[in-house]
Amino acid sequence: MVPLFDWKWIIVFGAIGSLFILYLTCRRRIKTPWKRNALGASMVILSLTFVLAGWYATEMGFDAGGRYDPSRFPMVEAPFENATDVRDFRNGYSGSASCPWGYVHVGVDFFFKNGSKVLSATPGQVYEVKVDDNGAGAYIRYYIRVYIRYNSSICILYSFELKTEDYANITRQLSLIKVKVGDWVSAGQELARFFNCGGDPDHVDWGISDNHERTCPQQFFTTSGYEKMMGLVHAFHPDWNLCYP
Ligand SMILES: [Zn+2]
Repeated sequence: MVPLFDWKWIIVFGAIGSLFILYLTCRRRIKTPWKRNALGASMVILSLTFVLAGWYATEMGFDAGGRYDPSRFPMVEAPFENATDVRDFRNGYSGSASCPWGYVHVGVDFFFKNGSKVLSATPGQVYEVKVDDNGAGAYIRYYIRVYIRYNSSICILYSFELKTEDYANITRQLSLIKVKVGDWVSAGQELARFFNCGGDPDHVDWGISDNHERTCPQQFFTTSGYEKMMGLVHAFHPDWNLCYP
């Protein structure tokens, strides 16, 4: 999930590159073997320090810049505007096949009607917008994944999964996504309009990952967010839960 080459890594590798050039320049002038070895060892230690600093900045160093409190729980709102924007509810989160839908599913699928608003469930920063191609013949070939980072460990995923082989449909859905990488969003902000390109399978797979692991979203919902979410679930299946272990 963490892109390897975000700008912090460019700085890290740039610093290591400059260090290496400096090392080669100095090494030629030093004649004493132990001094040469000491210089080599310092080079290795400094490089490792840069890599650690880059890793820390990417993985741990999330800073909301005072926009919201990233330690606040629960914080998730429902990612839709009206229950009537969703045409079906077929699954929530399940860690095993012992659930009403009968298979493992690590997100919640929203079968939005064409043109419905997809809302941000949390405040956060848009971290990645990318298209995954699962190859011709896959049940759903293209996934458009929008990741929003809430804090150093929690990311919210909005995966637009349209059943189409025609990339023009993907371009169209991309054009309806109203945020770009780096944007800060607030809870309830419109992230996109959903483009149903004609297929019944078209939906948004939504979910939360905590330390790179998809997890049951229930614990993260605010009281009002959870009530709204369950209102949708129960409109289709009065006895279902949102999550099954
Ligand atoms: Zn799904």
